[in-house]
Amino acid sequence: MSITKHLKEIKASLPETVTLVAVSKTKPVSDLMEAYNAGQRIFGENKIQEMAEKHAEMPKDIEWHMIGHVQRNKVKYMAEFVSLIHGVDSFKLLKEINKQAQKHDRIIDCLFQIKIAEEDSKFGMSADEASQLLASEEFSELKHIRIVGLMGMATFTEDLEQVENEFQYLKRTFTTLKAEHSELQIVSMGMSGDYELAIKNGSTMVRVGSRIFGSRNYNN
Ligand SMILES: *Cc1c(COP(=O)(O)O)cnc(C)c1O
Repeated sequence: MSITKHLKEIKASLPETVTLVAVSKTKPVSDLMEAYNAGQRIFGENKIQEMAEKHAEMPKDIEWHMIGHVQRNKVKYMAEFVSLIHGVDSFKLLKEINKQAQKHDRIIDCLFQIKIAEEDSKFGMSADEASQLLASEEFSELKHIRIVGLMGMATFTEDLEQVENEFQYLKRTFTTLKAEHSELQIVSMGMSGDYELAIKNGSTMVRVGSRIFGSRNYNN
């Protein structure tokens, strides 16, 4: 298995408008360094502590994306360096990110996670909640965060029509919100199993893990 080869193949297949986040959760720094040496500079992790450790060990020209569910009490461990937080799903969390960003004199880019899947296990807010939040006064007071787009995770199913419907719903939500909020630029959707379909339906950022690094083993 060659990380370099997989990465180059995937990159060659992506339209120029689509950004690749290499999802490196559970993988050792040596694997990330292979991807780095092949030119990859954007890495996605889903645990804050693991991301902070890898950030400390690796070159400093990497953009670190937090793609997992974020606990408020851990925001402080990534506020100094995180480039993009994909999974923002509440005002409370946003407020904490704003507070920690202020301590480092930063503005942190975030995506609203929209619930597009049927499964209860997937986090996210509704399109209406996102719309109301963006228009609210309490939101406008947060000067150290910037909402730059939306993120969604489709249902884990073989039913590609359902997955496609969910992607289309996220894209429509994005287009509607962008009409009022031109700062929205990113539609983060698509993983190893469905990123081609996501791109066909308007994704601008794909989060690909196992197709680059191989399958994950959560036991070690
Ligand atoms: C793990 C993960 C991915 C990547 O999954 P693969 O199927 O390995 O590509 C993408 N997005 C999120 C939010 C994840 O947690």
